[in-house]
Amino acid sequence: MTNQQKNDFTSWYIETIQKADLMDYTPVRGCIAFKPDGYEIWEHIKDEMDRRFKETGHRNAYFPMLIPENFFQKEKDHIEGFSPELPWVTEAAGEKLEERLALRPTSETMIGHLYSDWIKSYRDLPVLINQWANVFRWEKKTLPFIRTSEFLWQEGHTAHEDEKEAREETMQMLNIYKEIVEELLAIPVYDGQKTPSERFAGAVDTYSIEAMMKDGKAVQAGTSHYLGTKFAEAFDIKYLNKENKHEFVHTTSWGTSTRLIGSVIMVHGDEQGLVLPPRIAPTQVVLIPVGPWKKNPEIMEKLDELFAALKAKGIRVRLDDSNQSPGYKFNEWELKGVPIRVELGPRDLEKNQALIKARDEDEKVAIDLPTIADHIEGALQTMQTRLLEKARAFRDMHSHTHVDTLQQLIKHIADSTENGEIPGWILAGWCGDDACEEHVKEETKFTTRNIPFNPPAKKSTCINCGKEAKHTVWFGRAY
Ligand SMILES: [Zn+2]
Repeated sequence: MTNQQKNDFTSWYIETIQKADLMDYTPVRGCIAFKPDGYEIWEHIKDEMDRRFKETGHRNAYFPMLIPENFFQKEKDHIEGFSPELPWVTEAAGEKLEERLALRPTSETMIGHLYSDWIKSYRDLPVLINQWANVFRWEKKTLPFIRTSEFLWQEGHTAHEDEKEAREETMQMLNIYKEIVEELLAIPVYDGQKTPSERFAGAVDTYSIEAMMKDGKAVQAGTSHYLGTKFAEAFDIKYLNKENKHEFVHTTSWGTSTRLIGSVIMVHGDEQGLVLPPRIAPTQVVLIPVGPWKKNPEIMEKLDELFAALKAKGIRVRLDDSNQSPGYKFNEWELKGVPIRVELGPRDLEKNQALIKARDEDEKVAIDLPTIADHIEGALQTMQTRLLEKARAFRDMHSHTHVDTLQQLIKHIADSTENGEIPGWILAGWCGDDACEEHVKEETKFTTRNIPFNPPAKKSTCINCGKEAKHTVWFGRAY
């Protein structure tokens, strides 16, 4: 972590995304515009997810953005969870609407309403549908990409004959999220189950993947919910089973959003700005002529050749032959987080070499021109792996297993602050009582992240009351 990141992480974050030209603010509070570089990061995430969803049998569909008020009344927990954040449409064409329409915060209700029509028999099951859409949650405190009033996401909605199949689906999608976030975004995550107080409104069980940012705070990077028959009962989604009896379907829903973009910036960014994992970088390689290159046409010839060779390998490459100085260009492309920079000047050309610099490393490396395209291809893959390893090392260093009581947690936070360290997350026991969880939150702002499937240690006593622990839980501050 660098100095500016240490002193004021939020300012560093906002400065970084603005200098990288990823987004802009708009006059609508909490609603941002995605500029092309920001949107393209999302497109790379989206493409890979969409491929994985389809590979596992899902298809895309689209549902309306406006949801009638009475739909929300049908599932009690759902309305309680979402009503404070709903924006409403009350008027259209100059007339007051008979019923208010909410801008969707999520689509379980509309989809539940339609599935009750679409699903009649076991032959119609399973229904495996995903939607790419925008949703609205009117947030009091917003932060670009991480928490905005309108955001882009995908929401999967599936219906199954029985609990076993629905639960398998819930876990399958969580695993796909984990793989994509680790492999594509180079962000390590802890997968596990949410505690009841952190569950999705209306779910029987919620599972999540949790990522640690460089300031030690957590971002819930994806969630997958087993909804049981709750929404089926609320919206009367019944099917005729093989014995000719009516039964409620078991449903799931799962989602990830554009907050993944914010996570990438907060996990990999440094003092110079953005650092992008190669697989999602809009520009993966930038070629920059240096020295008195305009007097030497062979330099541009070689760069044009390299440009074509990289393009042929499917690499997203840019050639910056603008009139700015090399130093200015280096800085510009570093701010944008471009993974690999190639410099070629007269002296390099004499040696039949070019200099390569990876965005996350300090050293430049000289590479022979005849093999450079292959070398760059390998360097992109190496950097992708290296970023995941660095992020994993950082996370592991700040994942603490030595804290067992609330007093120790308070001391751990105080000691960390005094030493200029981030407190990170702690692994602690929990008895299962909501009141204990709430008390830890009140005292420390540490909330339960999830109950990890594979905790690095098992805890025997509750961090708050000292009674026997039912679960071993990650606690941390969260966005
Ligand atoms: Zn307790």
